[in-house]
Amino acid sequence: MFLSLLFLLKATNLADFQKVSTFFLLKYEPFIKDFSIFKLIIHVPALPLKPKISKMKYVYLILFTVLLMNACTKTVTPEDMLSDATKWQGVEKGYLTDGVLDLGSEFLTLVYQPGILNTYTNFEFSTEVLTEVGGHANILFHTNKRYLDQGYAVKIDNSAPGDWDRLLKTGSLSSVRNIFYRMLSDEEWFKLVIRVEENHIQVSVNGYPVVDYIEPEVPFRTPEIDKRRLSAGTFAIETGFGNTGVKFRNMNVSKLPPGEKRQNDDSDFTRQITELHSRHLPLVDFHVHEKGGLTLPLLIEKSAKLGINYGVAANCGLKFPIQNDEELKNYLASIKGMPIFKAMQAEGREWVDMFSPDLVSEFDYAFTDAMTWTNRNGTRMRLWVPEETEVGDPEDFMEQLVSQIEQVVTEPISIYVNPTFLPVEIEDRYDELWTDERVNRVVNSLVKNNVALEINSRTRLPGKKFIAKAKDAGVKFALGTNNTNAENLGKLEWAIEIIEEFNLQPTDMFLPGNSP
Ligand SMILES: [Zn+2]
Repeated sequence: MFLSLLFLLKATNLADFQKVSTFFLLKYEPFIKDFSIFKLIIHVPALPLKPKISKMKYVYLILFTVLLMNACTKTVTPEDMLSDATKWQGVEKGYLTDGVLDLGSEFLTLVYQPGILNTYTNFEFSTEVLTEVGGHANILFHTNKRYLDQGYAVKIDNSAPGDWDRLLKTGSLSSVRNIFYRMLSDEEWFKLVIRVEENHIQVSVNGYPVVDYIEPEVPFRTPEIDKRRLSAGTFAIETGFGNTGVKFRNMNVSKLPPGEKRQNDDSDFTRQITELHSRHLPLVDFHVHEKGGLTLPLLIEKSAKLGINYGVAANCGLKFPIQNDEELKNYLASIKGMPIFKAMQAEGREWVDMFSPDLVSEFDYAFTDAMTWTNRNGTRMRLWVPEETEVGDPEDFMEQLVSQIEQVVTEPISIYVNPTFLPVEIEDRYDELWTDERVNRVVNSLVKNNVALEINSRTRLPGKKFIAKAKDAGVKFALGTNNTNAENLGKLEWAIEIIEEFNLQPTDMFLPGNSP
C-alpha cells in the first residue's frame, strides 16, 4: 500500500489519478468500501490539464494500479490473537505461554482488546482447541466487555452425554442452532472456524460445516437470549462451572469486507426451528439412510443449513449391506469424526448373534423395527414387501405382530422404529386393529425395556392414540424419517407437529446416553 502511494506521488497529477482511481473503483468496488478517500478524489472535478501523459507517467500509473489492486484484494493478514497476553482482559500472567492459552479449570471470562475501539463486524475467526475430559467453554462474538450477553456464543464441549445441563456440544450456536452429536473426543486438538458476513453465520469444525445460519430481519428470541443478535463487537471466551480444562492455540481473526445480505426463503420454518432450539429440544432425525443419491456431504450441508442434527444408520443384518464385524469396523472407520450421530439399524432377528457387542457399542445407538420376522408357518417376512407377507386372518396376524414387538424390544437396542407398521393389505384398518389392549402391551414393553419410540415423519407412525399412551407411560420419543432417497428426507414436519400438539419437552425426548 505504502509503495503504491509512492508511485502515485511520482505520477502525481490529479487527472491521471482520477483516471486510475475510477478504473480501480469500478473494478474493485466491493473490496474498498473503506477507501472512501479515493471516491472523494474522483468526485473532485477534473482540473483542465494537458491531455497528454508522458511515457514515464504511464509506467508509474500502471505500477501504482497493480500495487494498489494487490494491496486491496489480497486477504488482510490475520491478527494473531494469542501473540500477547495484554490483548486480553482477564488473562492472568501464566495463562498464555508460547502461544497456547491454557484456561485450566478456572471459572473465568476473557475479553479480547476491550480497551481499544476495535470492533469486528464481518470476520473470519479460527482457532485450535483442546478440551480436557469434561472441559467446556463458550466463544462469544459481537459482544463487549460491559454486556457479555450481547452477541452469539459458540459452544465448546466434547463431554460424553449424560448430563442434561450439558446437552449442547461443540459447534453449537447456543440456543439458536444447537449441536447434540459428539463428533470429537476430549484430549484432541481440533479446528474451529466462525465466519460472519452480514446476516450469515457459519461455524465449521475440522472443516465440516456444522452451522450455516441466516439471521432473519426479526429473529425469534426468548427473553433469555434476546441479545443473541448480530451487530458488531469483540470476542470473549468464558468458562463455566464444572470446567476441567480448555486450551487454545493458533487463534486468528481476519476482518472481512462488507458483503451482501442474504435472503431467508423459509422464514416460518426457521422461526419454528429456532423456537425449538431455544428450549434445547433435541432436534435430531435419528433415522436417516445414505440412499438414493443422499450422500454424507449433502446431508452434512443440509444439517448445517436447516438446524436439524442427523443420525445416519447403516443397515446391518442377514441379507443386509453389513453382515459381519469386519464390515462393521470398516464402516465405523469411514464415518469417524463426521458431524452426525452414528447409528446401527439392526435388521432381522439374527443380528444379535452376528456382531460383537463391543463393536455395536461404538455406535451412538442401535435401533430396530418389527418388520422382519418369521411367522408361525415358518415364512420369513419383510412386511413392506407384499409378496413376502402372509397376513391371513388379520386378528391372528396382529397377535403374532404384537408378540414379535414385545420380543424385539428386549434386544439390545435404544429405539423401536417404524413403529406399529402394518402391511399394505390391512393398513386401512390401522385404528381398528391397534386396539387399546394391543397398544398397552407394546407401550408396557417399551417402558419395561427402556426403549424409546420413534415418531416417524415419513409414514406418520405411530398413531396419536399410541403417542398419547406412550407419553403418559413415560416412554421417550425419538424423531425419525427412514428416508429411501434424498427427496423423501423431509424436515421432520410431522414430528414437529406432534411435539407441538403433545407439548413434548426436552426431557420427553431420547438422546443417546442421557436419561433424566
Ligand atoms: Zn431404516
